[in-house]
Amino acid sequence: MTSGDKIFGRLLGRSSAQALQAPASQPSPGLHLRLDQQGHVLQISRALRPQLAHHLSAQPQPLLRDLLCLPGALSIEGTPVDWQRNSLDLDFQGAADTILHTRGWVEPDGDGWILRLLDISDLLQGRQLAQQREQNHQLASQMSEQLRVCSLTRLPQVFNDHLRSLAQRWRIPCVAMVLLDQQDQDWLVYSSHSAHDAPQLWTPGQRLGTCLDSLNGNTPLSLKHLQGRSEHPRLYSVFGNAEGLLVPYRDSQGVAAWLLCGFYSGHPDVNERDWLNLAAALAAPLLSRLREQRHHQQLERVEALQGLLGTGWWELLSSGEEILLAPQLMRSLSPEDAPTRQVLGNWLELIHPADRQELNSRLQDLQTLSKPLLTSVRLLRTDAKQNPIWYRVQGQVLGAGDQRRWIGFMLDISDIKNQQLQAAAAHARLDNLIASSPAVIYVQRYVNGALHPAFFSDSLLPLLGWTLAECTHDTSVEWVHPDDRDVYFERTRQLLREGSVRSRYRVRDRQGNYHWLLDEAKLLRDDLGLPVEAVGLWLDVTEATLAAQQIKESEERYRILVEDSPAMICRYRPDLTLTFGNTPLANYLECTPAQLPGINLGEWLSAEQRNAFVKRISQLSPEFPVSTAEISLQLPGREHAWWVWSDRGVFDEHGQLQEIQAVGRDNTEVRRSQQQLTQSAKMATLGEMATGLAHEINQPLNVMRMAIVNVLKRLGNGDVQIDYLTEKLQRIDAQVQRAARVVDHMRVFGRRSEVEQQPFDPAQAVEGTQSLLGEGLRGKGVDLRITPMDFNVQVNGHVDQLEQVLINLVVNARDALVARHEKNHGFQPWIALYSEHDSRHVRIWIEDNGGGIDARLLERIFEPFFTTKPIGVGTGLGLSVSYGIVENMGGRLSVVNSEHGARFCVELPVVGGG
Ligand code: ADP
Repeated sequence: MTSGDKIFGRLLGRSSAQALQAPASQPSPGLHLRLDQQGHVLQISRALRPQLAHHLSAQPQPLLRDLLCLPGALSIEGTPVDWQRNSLDLDFQGAADTILHTRGWVEPDGDGWILRLLDISDLLQGRQLAQQREQNHQLASQMSEQLRVCSLTRLPQVFNDHLRSLAQRWRIPCVAMVLLDQQDQDWLVYSSHSAHDAPQLWTPGQRLGTCLDSLNGNTPLSLKHLQGRSEHPRLYSVFGNAEGLLVPYRDSQGVAAWLLCGFYSGHPDVNERDWLNLAAALAAPLLSRLREQRHHQQLERVEALQGLLGTGWWELLSSGEEILLAPQLMRSLSPEDAPTRQVLGNWLELIHPADRQELNSRLQDLQTLSKPLLTSVRLLRTDAKQNPIWYRVQGQVLGAGDQRRWIGFMLDISDIKNQQLQAAAAHARLDNLIASSPAVIYVQRYVNGALHPAFFSDSLLPLLGWTLAECTHDTSVEWVHPDDRDVYFERTRQLLREGSVRSRYRVRDRQGNYHWLLDEAKLLRDDLGLPVEAVGLWLDVTEATLAAQQIKESEERYRILVEDSPAMICRYRPDLTLTFGNTPLANYLECTPAQLPGINLGEWLSAEQRNAFVKRISQLSPEFPVSTAEISLQLPGREHAWWVWSDRGVFDEHGQLQEIQAVGRDNTEVRRSQQQLTQSAKMATLGEMATGLAHEINQPLNVMRMAIVNVLKRLGNGDVQIDYLTEKLQRIDAQVQRAARVVDHMRVFGRRSEVEQQPFDPAQAVEGTQSLLGEGLRGKGVDLRITPMDFNVQVNGHVDQLEQVLINLVVNARDALVARHEKNHGFQPWIALYSEHDSRHVRIWIEDNGGGIDARLLERIFEPFFTTKPIGVGTGLGLSVSYGIVENMGGRLSVVNSEHGARFCVELPVVGGG
């Protein structure tokens, strides 16, 4: 029996044999075709007849094969007589391109045959359907299987491949799997596929919003059958406003996924169940894999987090003697590869001995008393210098009875702990600082426009004697000095208005004394900008305030002092412009004190003096801010003024000279008398030299007289030769010149010195000395040994003054020598005058062999009026004046006793010398 027979039998509810013998009389929905012996169709009858394409209207009669569809037609060979006792499956060409599937048999009928057929379309369709379903089922389980086993990384690709084969198989133009996003509670396109000729409705990752929420998730839905486009406008737009099929997938929590098919309304071979199965075959493994992925990620995250935090779980094993630890926790606890399951005692060894016992005891409490564990412990570190590592250990009991488990975690809290310790230390320091500082820190809370005291630092008590409890809104105003209350109220108003304030008022302490407080406060506001509290600082500035007052008063006193002082007092800028000057200065400058600012001091100085002045000022420094000098000025209406001038530089924080404060005293009179003294000393020197001078003048006169006498004698003899006369007259002329030179020099020497110093060559003074004293000394038998200066230097001063010094020194030497000569006539007196110089100084020595100066007198010989000579002989001024002159030239006059006698040294700075 063929499989076709079996099905046919089943269809009729009988065995195939019976089916073959079915009585012809029985009405049947079938088709009867009468055939002739050749197989021509003579007549068609019965119910199915209208369904045939062919209605036998044309002649000649067609063969049965002509009515059949092509493949079926080929299966009928021969004539009806050959077809007897065979079941025939014939497919007729139906109307409107349909096919009519039939099964039946031929029976002899008169001289022809009758072909009895039944419609088996349903049967075939059912079979096809079953096959289809079988295939669908296989496909579904295949997809499911592949989705379940593929790697997580390939999952999207594998899924998309299935989606594509599904689309191709059922000719779905656009298909997508949409999943419910648990987090955002909306629908997300997980994967999609569009046929190459279809528009792409969806892309992976696209969010469809919540338009799928309201749908019935029990059956596949065709957009066509959904009610009203207006109810689901969003849904329709998701499908491009075209046809669509939506297949839900439900899991225990409801609809978890939709399979969307766009431009599609279904397939005749796939019923609702099939669609649901297909959707489930795709969605169920996908969701489970995604859950697995999420779980996996979650685990990774947790592990990463634990690693980062230095945290991890632990569990005491039921014996209570062993502990199991999260691998990453074990790694952070002990860098060596220690096992994650270990004996409790070994694990406790990792804990610092200081905390070990406590932890052990608490672990026991957890096991025996079920007491939750919470403690902080340090790890044992080999390097004690490093900061300790702190862990928080927390544990609890899970379950009950035999199911009890002891689980907990450890968390690295070193950062927090160390910060806590640092913060505590800093806090303590700060507290200490606040408490010991002279400032009181306070907080005032804002209540309805007023500020109420809320906190005072401990320094309040030592400062004012009050405590916080005694400070109320009202008392704090009462403590403020009545005169300062306006200031205080304004301070609060300004604080509230502008957010910060700085004011100064007096506050009473417990003893009733007032303190000047400097109050600096800031207003703190909340996020809305409303005032919350004011934080401020009270600084006791009583002393400073009183001191400031005193300074003000003393400033006044000083001002008066400055104004009334007979000394000149002024302030001027480094460019010598006056900024202030008192009355005495104004008097000298012939103006009023008010006119002084702006006047330049340099106007009264010669160019040289000004340069020297500016140079001196520029040498002031914060370390050496004071300099004193004598300056000479050409004042209006005055011949010349000498001021002793003391300057003090005022510097800014960068050491830059800002201003100079100066005090001056008129030294002109002193100078004048000094000059007079010098002059008198000079005159005295001249007097001293009178003898020498007489000799100097006498000498040429004698020579001249001799010459004249000789000439007169020759004239008397009448023996006058021109040559002889000329020679004598020339000799007289030379002697006249010599005498004139001496007289000239005397005149120059006797003149008053110029006021201002000039550079000159000291050799001039040496020469002058020699020309004045040379002859006189020789007359006295003193050998004056002058070593000429073989160098050229310049010194500042007056050549006649230096000459006076040298004369004084030589004359003193001469006196000592003469005195000694008187006692000892064999004595050979000499005076040596020699000099040397270096880059900065020139030194002129005057040495004699007069036996020197008594050591006890060495100190005193420069004093004015000190003399060892008889009254009327010595004035005691020579050395004193000389000393002054040399000092004035910036040099030094000194004396030592040498081997033979006194050795004086005149040391002078060289002009332009370093
Ligand atoms: P005077 O020469 O009028 O005494 P001075 O001031 O010139 O005044 O000298 C002071 C004193 O110094 C002299 O009286 C003398 O005793 C001593 N004196 C100065 N020069 C010499 C010298 N070369 N040798 C010894 N004594 C000297």
